[in-house]
Amino acid sequence: MNKVKVFFVFGKQGSGKSTQAKLLAEHRAIPYFATGDELRRASEQPTEFGDKLKAMMLTGGLVDDETVKSLFIDFISKHDCSNGLVVDGFPRDMAQFEMLETLSQEHDWLVVAIEINISHQVALERIALRKIVVDGKVTTRSDDEPAIVNKRLAVYEQSTVPLIEEFLQKYTLLKIDGEPAIAQVFADVCQKISQLDAN
Ligand code: AMP
Repeated sequence: MNKVKVFFVFGKQGSGKSTQAKLLAEHRAIPYFATGDELRRASEQPTEFGDKLKAMMLTGGLVDDETVKSLFIDFISKHDCSNGLVVDGFPRDMAQFEMLETLSQEHDWLVVAIEINISHQVALERIALRKIVVDGKVTTRSDDEPAIVNKRLAVYEQSTVPLIEEFLQKYTLLKIDGEPAIAQVFADVCQKISQLDAN
C-alpha cells in the first residue's frame, strides 16, 4: 500500500504559500492545517494565553514550539488524514523539524516539501498590497506593518530556510517558481506532484 503523503508548504511572506496550500488541499480533498490561522484564532480568545500569543505574534517572531506542537497534534487527532494532509507554516525551526521527524515515523508518512520561491522585492511589493476580510470588512493584517514584515522575513531566512536543506537531504522537495499567476503556479505544483503519484 502507498504511504500517506503529507505536504509541507514553504515560502516567504507574500509567496502565496497559503493560497497554493489551500488549492492543493481542495484539489486532493484532504485536510488543510495552517499554524498561522490556528494561532490567530487562539490569540483572539479573551484569555491570558490569547493575549500572550497576540503579543508574541506582533513582534514578528515565532511562537513557542510547544504551543505549535500541541496545535498540530490536536489537529491530526481530530481530522481524517488517511488520504493525506497539507500543512502550511510548520515546521518553522529546527526543533519543529525534529517534531515532524518523530511524527512522520509514528504515522509512517511520505513527507513532501513544496518550496514556493519569490524574490525579496516581490515579497515586499505583494505584502504592501495585501488585504484580508475580517467580519465583512476589508483590512490589513496587523503583522503586515513594514517593521514587522522585515522581522518576519528575517526570521524566515534565519530559522526556516535552513530546514529546506534538511528536507532535500531526508525527504522529497519540490521547488516551485511562485512569481507567475496563481493558476500557473498551481499547475506547476500539480504537475510535479503527479510525477510523484506516478512512482
Ligand atoms: P503566518 O500566517 O504563517 O505568516 O504566521 C503568522 C505568525 O504566526 C508568524 O509570524 C508567527 O508569529 C506565528 N507562527 C505561525 N506558524 C508558526 C510556527 N510553526 N511556529 C511558531 N510561530 C508560528
